[in-house]
Amino acid sequence: MTLPIHSIRWRIQAWHGLLLLLVLAGFGAMAYHLQDTSETRHLDAELHLRISALFGNIARQPRPVPGPGDQRPDPPDGPPEGDPDDPPERNAGRGPRPGSFRLRPELAPLFASDGGSAFYYRVWTRDGAVFGSSPDAPAGLSRPERPQSRGGLFRSVNGRREAFEFTPPGESALVGVSEAGKEREMLRFAGKLAAVGAGVIVLGLAGGWWLASRAIRPVDAISATAARIAGGRLDERIPVSGNGSELDRLAAVLNHAFAQLDAAFAEQARFTSDAAHELRTPVSVILAQTQLALARPRDSDEYRESIEITRRSALRMQSLIESLLALARLDARTEPARRQPCDLASIGREQLDLIQPLAAERGIVLHQELEPAVCVADPDRVAQICTNLLSNAVKYNRIGGEVRLSSRRENGHALLTVTDTGLGIAAQHLPHIFDRFYRADDSRNRSTGGAGLGLAICKLLTEAEGGSLTVNSVEDRGSTFTLQILADENGDAKMEN
Ligand code: ADP
Repeated sequence: MTLPIHSIRWRIQAWHGLLLLLVLAGFGAMAYHLQDTSETRHLDAELHLRISALFGNIARQPRPVPGPGDQRPDPPDGPPEGDPDDPPERNAGRGPRPGSFRLRPELAPLFASDGGSAFYYRVWTRDGAVFGSSPDAPAGLSRPERPQSRGGLFRSVNGRREAFEFTPPGESALVGVSEAGKEREMLRFAGKLAAVGAGVIVLGLAGGWWLASRAIRPVDAISATAARIAGGRLDERIPVSGNGSELDRLAAVLNHAFAQLDAAFAEQARFTSDAAHELRTPVSVILAQTQLALARPRDSDEYRESIEITRRSALRMQSLIESLLALARLDARTEPARRQPCDLASIGREQLDLIQPLAAERGIVLHQELEPAVCVADPDRVAQICTNLLSNAVKYNRIGGEVRLSSRRENGHALLTVTDTGLGIAAQHLPHIFDRFYRADDSRNRSTGGAGLGLAICKLLTEAEGGSLTVNSVEDRGSTFTLQILADENGDAKMEN
């Protein structure tokens, strides 16, 4: 059973979901960080506002006069007020009394609780004693260390954000606020981010599923058609939309392959039927002859004639079976080629000698114009091609006609040409002359006994040697077959050695 997780659609979806999640998580983390920074900056601005105000307040606090007789007593009614006309230079060197700090009334709203988090403050004298403090300042608030650089500073401690500053004489002031409010804000923001992220993921996955389904749909069509073709409907083809997509190109390639398979099956079927048909004739002749001979007692001449006809039929069957075997071997490419430098002239001369008796029988004159033409090929195969061409030239010739065999080198090729003055081949037959079981003229062949396989075998042999076999023919005038194989450059010298 195939798990859906292995389907392409699921894999695309999984990768798509993972990428979306990563991108959203990255964006979410960045947005959260930016928001946190912005909230902290906002808090710091509030703290800065308050510490500046507090700082002004400290500068205006009255300083006690050191030494006897030089004291300015606190006003009897109420806390000591800062003397605005008392310049800081005059106060320099004199430390305020611990606990004597008084917040100016106009600054009180800055430290009042407005329902949210309240700002608190604490002020220390030069020698570290608490100068003044708001009532809600946390217990155990430590005095900040004076930094090396001038100016105010911020710090986050125990869930509080604090700003502190130092006066030139050495007093220090701290303003702080709980960060709970900011944390609540951030929690709300994170919730919003998560909700938006979840929405984007759901939409993204739905869109991805739709897109993947659309992209994969042609694959389903391809599988369905391929299944029907495998089921025997070889004429079926995959629909091609023509949009040039990868799947469209795949469909076109598969269609081409199916068409070739279809043609190969049709060719196979035709070949089998042709072979059976060709074999049926000699078998029928043998059966008829033997039946005739056995029907009643006959004299020896009649038996001899019967046996002779049977033998001829058997020979025809043998030649046909050998041709079929040769084709099968060439198709399967099981025969290894024994390639070596060979001269078409000497091979042609040998084959011409072999065909001489058959030519003489029909009063045909053989001519030769054989120049050295060395190529690298299997000499047995070249000899077989030459024999087939020569025997056709004799078979399909007139009584008393001529056959000319020539060889030469031309444009880096070794050529072997067989020309006859025979019946020729009509133009409509020429394109099919190398097809299996093709006969230009059935009546012509019935007398000569060919099955239409000779030229098909020649063509396959030539292709196996990397050469070409062409024909020129004019009906009633004669034909010229030319075998062309790549010449061996140093062949002539090699052959002489
Ligand atoms: P076959 O065994 O019948 O000769 P081939 O494949 O050799 O088969 O030839 C195919 C057909 O081509 C033949 O039936 C014949 O009609 C035609 N043919 C081949 N060679 C010649 C030729 N030299 N002159 C005229 N017709 C030819």
